[in-house]
Amino acid sequence: MIPLDFNVLNAGLHRTRQAQQTKGYLMHFRKHLIFTLMIALTGTAFSGCKTVSNVAEQATETTANVVLPPSQEAELGKQLSAELEREVKLHPDPAVQAYIQELGNEIVKAAGSNVPEGITFTFKVIDDPDTVNAFAMPGGYIYFYSGLLLKAENTAEIIGVMGHEVAHVTERHVAERLVKAYGLQALLNMALGQNPGQVKQIVAGMLAQGYLLKYGRSQESESDKVGLSYVLRDGTYSPQGMVTFFQKLDEGGASVPTIVSSHPDPGERAKTLRSMIAKQSNVPSNLGKERFEELYPKFRASAATTTTTTDTTTTEQ
Ligand SMILES: [Zn+2]
Repeated sequence: MIPLDFNVLNAGLHRTRQAQQTKGYLMHFRKHLIFTLMIALTGTAFSGCKTVSNVAEQATETTANVVLPPSQEAELGKQLSAELEREVKLHPDPAVQAYIQELGNEIVKAAGSNVPEGITFTFKVIDDPDTVNAFAMPGGYIYFYSGLLLKAENTAEIIGVMGHEVAHVTERHVAERLVKAYGLQALLNMALGQNPGQVKQIVAGMLAQGYLLKYGRSQESESDKVGLSYVLRDGTYSPQGMVTFFQKLDEGGASVPTIVSSHPDPGERAKTLRSMIAKQSNVPSNLGKERFEELYPKFRASAATTTTTTDTTTTEQ
């Protein structure tokens, strides 16, 4: 009953998005409501792929679901991210912010013409050492919680997550999910600034449940595939980081974060990524450990300033 998107894995680095999206759509939506995003072993709130974005890619490759133009998505993203940033604490260290911005920019450069016209990416770190998560808001506003940075072991792992999140935007998953959840007209009204109350409400809901919109399984597979292609095209870091990080999350057990939960077989994801990587030649081996390790204490430094921190993220998930 639940079609797996094996196509995604074999399709090389290009898109097979229509079939996947339509397939995975319904069941995902349901699952989203059901899954909790708490990591069983640690109690850490992790919701890897909570994104809000994704509408139609372009009219030409659009499914019925995809009808929100990138310019409207960008407008909406601007409002949602502004509201989000009123509610969360951004990481205070400019070096940490710069690190994530640089990695993001590398991925966006690698994405090249996949980036919809009208979308300008921004990358920020939220100061929350207990939350192992990253997500894409509409319009290319990508956020990493510091808990995710603390959970990583090298830059290759972080850029793997970056590739995945950026792909959710470039593949229009965020836009599509938004339309599905709120309806096109409501989104267009919001984009015009006509419903600030709903913007607030959406962000509040997102922060409460740990994600804005949950993606479908096929979208997750596609973001893995496309994200990996970005990492490879960038060519700076080992693509194995994507595998090891997702594997780490998969080991969290039955109740896992969104980034993992839409994959019925957790091991399948790593396997798929591995086989994609195996088909590549001249894969870089650089894990980017040096800079990561140099910055690592700064990821934690802000944790020390948080008064109510009970850091449960130190156990392996
Ligand atoms: Zn995802």
